[in-house]
Amino acid sequence: MATTLAQVSIPFFNYRGAFAAREDEFIDIIRDVVRRGAFIQQRDLADFEEALAAYLGVSHAFGVANATDGLVISLRAAGIRPGDEVIFPSHTMVASPAAVAHAGGIPVPVDCGPDHLIDPAAVEAAITERTRVVMPVHLNGRTCRMDELERIAAKYDLMIVEDAAQALGSKFRGKPAGSFGIAAAFSFYPAKILGCFGDGGAVVTNDDEVARKIALLRDHGRNEDGEVEMWGFNSRLDNLQAAILHAQFRDYDTIVSRRRSIARLYESLLSDVPDVSLPPGPATDGDHFDVFQNYEIEASRRDELRSFLSARGIGTILQWGGTPVHKFPKLGFKVSLPVTERFFERCLMLPMNMMVSDEDVALIAASIREFYGASA
Ligand SMILES: *Cc1c(COP(=O)(O)O)cnc(C)c1O
Repeated sequence: MATTLAQVSIPFFNYRGAFAAREDEFIDIIRDVVRRGAFIQQRDLADFEEALAAYLGVSHAFGVANATDGLVISLRAAGIRPGDEVIFPSHTMVASPAAVAHAGGIPVPVDCGPDHLIDPAAVEAAITERTRVVMPVHLNGRTCRMDELERIAAKYDLMIVEDAAQALGSKFRGKPAGSFGIAAAFSFYPAKILGCFGDGGAVVTNDDEVARKIALLRDHGRNEDGEVEMWGFNSRLDNLQAAILHAQFRDYDTIVSRRRSIARLYESLLSDVPDVSLPPGPATDGDHFDVFQNYEIEASRRDELRSFLSARGIGTILQWGGTPVHKFPKLGFKVSLPVTERFFERCLMLPMNMMVSDEDVALIAASIREFYGASA
């Protein structure tokens, strides 16, 4: 029996931490932007968009108010028509299918595969003559099997619109998430890897015509001359948030490598515990480059483990409250998706962010081992 560990305090996510880490620099940025009165669609936004597009190797990036809007705008710019079916994984945030509904489409949930991401075989099985779009969701910072999804999309003449909210910098076979489809959305929600101090998001595309529509849709349908060409939204990324994001984005490679080293540490400390199954580590195969937006494990006696960790001061969460999209009764889905449902009985997210130290990871791992009676 391991000796009992002392009470600790490791919140799942410390919302004050990101600001505290670079407070003076952020205050300088805020003062500079606000003094200039540069609030809406100013140069800080344009500079950030340019840096984002260059990083992803795409032709266009647009800041938007949040990724949910970004998905609506992506679908609309891609030319979705009322009643078009959009296939998405039920293992996602409700934002993904909500965007489909708001864009006039019909969200069709499918199961995930053993990698917990959209199952290409399930996608193919769900295709009807009304299917128009596949929406892969690159969860937890891991890009979906885009080779198979691209093959299916080409075979049935479907568009791919990516929910890349959790995947900035993640790659499949060297190609960044967000650069595969006709358009993709990223989120800068505070707890996302690149987070701002409020809501924020971006839409990217390689298609010039789609880019033009995105620019119109996010700003009331207005073109550069102020002429209104279509009904648009007010969904702009605040210039102030863009300036704050850009400052953090300059260190993005450091942020990603720190997250990957936290994942490596969890793996080295937990991989021999039979009651938990870990996400693939940073070095598992040559196809994926994961950025670890989250570190989500599967655990037996999950709820008991969670209470045990909580009593010790270790914060964990069940992604989206522990309910897959198709299980919200009022949304009216009638499908049964066994892999996703089983996953949601066992999944648990451990602390994974820039405020987590190696010592924290060691304490979390030791507590998990103690819970299962695994030797230290
Ligand atoms: C966070 C998230 C969204 C929504 O992002 P917002 O910027 O909060 O609108 C959509 N999809 C997934 C998978 C997410 O994790």
